Amino acid sequence: MKIVCVGGGPAGLFLSLLLKQRHPAYDVEVRERSAEGDVQGWGVVLWQDGLDAVTAADPATGRALADALHRWHGARISRRDDVWVDAGASGFAIARRELQYLLAGRAHEAGVQISYGSEVDPCDLPAADLIVAADGVGSRLRRTRSAGFGTQTVPSRNRYIWLGATTYLDSFTFAFLHTDAGWLWCHGYGYGEDRSTFIVECPVDTWEGLGLGSSTTADTLALLERLFSDHLRGARLLPPPDAGDRMQWLTFATLTNRTWHQDNVVLLGDAAHTTHFSIGSGTKLALEDAAGLVDALQTHAELSVALPAFEASRRPQVEQAQRHAVRSLQWFENFSRYSDLTMPDFTDLLERRRSSLLGRIPPRAYLRLRRLADRPTTMKRLLPRLRAR
Ligand SMILES: Cc1cc2nc3c(=O)[nH]c(=O)nc-3n(C[C@H](O)[C@H](O)[C@H](O)COP(=O)(O)OP(=O)(O)OC[C@H]3O[C@@H](n4cnc5c(N)ncnc54)[C@H](O)[C@@H]3O)c2cc1C
Repeated sequence: MKIVCVGGGPAGLFLSLLLKQRHPAYDVEVRERSAEGDVQGWGVVLWQDGLDAVTAADPATGRALADALHRWHGARISRRDDVWVDAGASGFAIARRELQYLLAGRAHEAGVQISYGSEVDPCDLPAADLIVAADGVGSRLRRTRSAGFGTQTVPSRNRYIWLGATTYLDSFTFAFLHTDAGWLWCHGYGYGEDRSTFIVECPVDTWEGLGLGSSTTADTLALLERLFSDHLRGARLLPPPDAGDRMQWLTFATLTNRTWHQDNVVLLGDAAHTTHFSIGSGTKLALEDAAGLVDALQTHAELSVALPAFEASRRPQVEQAQRHAVRSLQWFENFSRYSDLTMPDFTDLLERRRSSLLGRIPPRAYLRLRRLADRPTTMKRLLPRLRAR
C-alpha cells in the first residue's frame, strides 16, 4: 500500500509515524512544502486528554512529548486595573517547532520518508492508494474539490495576530485593556525557556482606531509592548516569522466539511475542521484524527469502508469541540456584553464561555439563573411551577 501524506504538520507527521509502526511494509511518504524547521506560529497549549490520546496511540511518543512539555499553572485574568487569579487551572504547552521536530524524528526513525520543500500540486497528485490531505486550514487539496467535500467557512469579526514574547508567562494570561480606540486583549502562556505565545485580539473598531492595519511591524510591536507593558514586564514581542515590514492581522474562520473523504483523498486535522484558538484544541484534534484514521485503516481492509468508518468515529468529538469553540469565539466577539460586569462575574462568565445558554440570554439573567441553580431548595420550589407553565 502506498500512502502519500500532503503536509508535515502535527496531523500528517503523527499519522505517518503510526502507519509505519503498525504496517512496516507500507510505503509511507510525507510531502511538506516548507523547509525543515520552518514552522509557522509559536507555542500551543495541550491538555492532559491530548497527551493521553498520543500515549494511547504510541506510548513512546507520549513519553517523549510529556518530557518536552512545559506546564503552566493557574490563570491570571486582568481587566483594566483589576486582577483575578484562578489558582486551579493548569495545562501544558510546547513550541510548534519542537512538537514537529519530535514527531518528524520519530516518523523518520520508523522509516517514513519525509520530503521537505516539496509542495504537492492539487491538480497533479502523486500516484498512491491513499492521499491524505493534512495540508492545514488553507488546504489546496480541499479547495480544488470543495464542492465535493461540501466545505463551509464562517469568518469571525475580530482581528488577531499570533505573536511570541521573550518571557515565560507561568500562568495562562488574559489581559483586557481599554484603549482610546476600544478594547484589546491578549491570550498568553509560556511554552519554553523565556518564550511565550502572546496572541493579541480585538474588535475591528479597535484595530482600525489604533491604525493596526496600516502601521509597520516595528511600530505595531512598539505600540503593543507599551500597551501590555505591565504584563510583559520588560520582555519584547516577536512578530510572526514571515511578517516582513507589515504584519498581517487575521480573522479566524470556522471551517466544516459535509464529508471528509472523496475517492482516495481524505482530509485530516485543520484541513477538515477548525476550532477557535481560545479553546486550544486544534492540535489535539489533529493528533486524534491521525490515530483514528490509522485505527480505521487497520480494522477495514477496503478504503471505501475505512474512510467512512474513520469519519463516523471522529465526527461526534470534533463537532462537539467546534460547538464549544464557536461559543468561545462569540464570547470574545461580543465582549461588550461582558465588559462592564463586576470582576468576579466577568471572570466567571469568561470561564463559562462554552455554555450553550450564555450567548442566548442576557449575562445578568444567566448569572441569576446559575445562582438559583446553586440553591437546590429554591430550585425544588421553582421547578414544579416552571414545569406547570
Ligand atoms: C493563533 C492560533 C493559536 C493556536 N493555538 C493552539 C493551541 O494552543 N492548542 C492547540 O491545540 N491548537 C492551537 N492552534 C491550532 C493548531 O495550530 C492547528 O489546529 C494544528 O496546527 C493543525 O495541525 P495540522 O497538521 O492539521 O495543520 P498544520 O499545522 O497547518 O500543518 C499543515 C502543513 O501542511 C503544509 N502544506 C500546506 N499545503 C501544502 C502542499 N500543497 N504541499 C505540501 N505541504 C503543504 C504546511 O506547510 C504545514 O506544514 C492554534 C491556531 C492558531 C491560528
